[in-house]
Amino acid sequence: MGRKRSTSAQNRPIRRRASQPRIVVVGSANADLVLAVAHRPAAGETIVSADVVVMPGGKGGNQAVAAAKLGGDVAFIGCVGADAPGAMLRERLVAAGVDVRGLRSIAAPSGQAVILVTPDGENSIIVSPGANAQVSTALVAEVADLWLGADVLVVQLEIPLETVEHVVPRAHARGTRVIVNAAPAAALPAAVLAASDPLVVNETEAEAALAARTGQPRPGVAAADGGPGATALDLLALGARSVVLTLGAGGAVLVERGADGAAGTPLHVPAHPVAAVDTTGAGDAFVGALAVELCAGSGLEAAVRRATQVAAFAVGRRGAQASYPTRADLVIN
Ligand code: ADP
Repeated sequence: MGRKRSTSAQNRPIRRRASQPRIVVVGSANADLVLAVAHRPAAGETIVSADVVVMPGGKGGNQAVAAAKLGGDVAFIGCVGADAPGAMLRERLVAAGVDVRGLRSIAAPSGQAVILVTPDGENSIIVSPGANAQVSTALVAEVADLWLGADVLVVQLEIPLETVEHVVPRAHARGTRVIVNAAPAAALPAAVLAASDPLVVNETEAEAALAARTGQPRPGVAAADGGPGATALDLLALGARSVVLTLGAGGAVLVERGADGAAGTPLHVPAHPVAAVDTTGAGDAFVGALAVELCAGSGLEAAVRRATQVAAFAVGRRGAQASYPTRADLVIN
């Protein structure tokens, strides 16, 4: 992979220090309790899981690990508890090569998630934010040296929205390329949307973002007039600089603005065919790969093509972080 700097990075007013990571993820880290089940339990029903395992997860941690495993120079900013899950989460980030100078261990329980995986590879998730709720504006301000002036900033919405609102416009103003993964589903403030390049959402998150704008529920992405391409354009119209709408086994649709700010033509990138084993963290593998490719100077279409390849690799294996490929796994030259 080349180390080409993006145009926006070259225009940055302040030079990156040698100690500054190129990709910074501000977000959540969770210990995932993953239970294999035959079906999701109904109200009042008790079911048996044949298999249980604790794994590192959380969208932020997953994306940081995905990017680092692909060779990215990555730092993670977030909070874990001063507890056993927190120690495990820290250790796994370090083992993947992630810079953890911005990771705090605090007096709160670590974020945790219970993930039910059914035989079709689909998952249902319950998240307890714990320490992630303490990723405050004060914390990110303390470690501003890490993220202000990075080449690429990646955020998701499993930390307080005000923290996202703090870092995104400031990073963008310094020439950083900002990837905003609006997950879990939430409405985004205009200042965050205006810096999103791209805004990355799955179908559920797309519907939520658009319904928040109109106050009206929308038909599903596939059922909406014009399908995913029209939905991507609707998302762009919210104010984002570019949009990537992920469609599970359907791949992804991207759309960018031209130099004049006008919306371009949506482009569909098909998924790589794979037998789905576990889709947990597929979207995070996708976002981590996008960050690495955009940091390397790739265009959005090329970055999305690589991200679909990386996400398919993850879908074909169990777990989230454990399923993410290295460059050697992908035979990337
Ligand atoms: P999320 O995991 O956030 O819900 P998606 O389900 O849209 O997001 O998946 C993200 C990406 O992962 C997709 O754009 C696609 O590239 C890849 N992916 C997901 N499911 C599959 C699948 N069954 N086969 C191949 N690729 C998949």
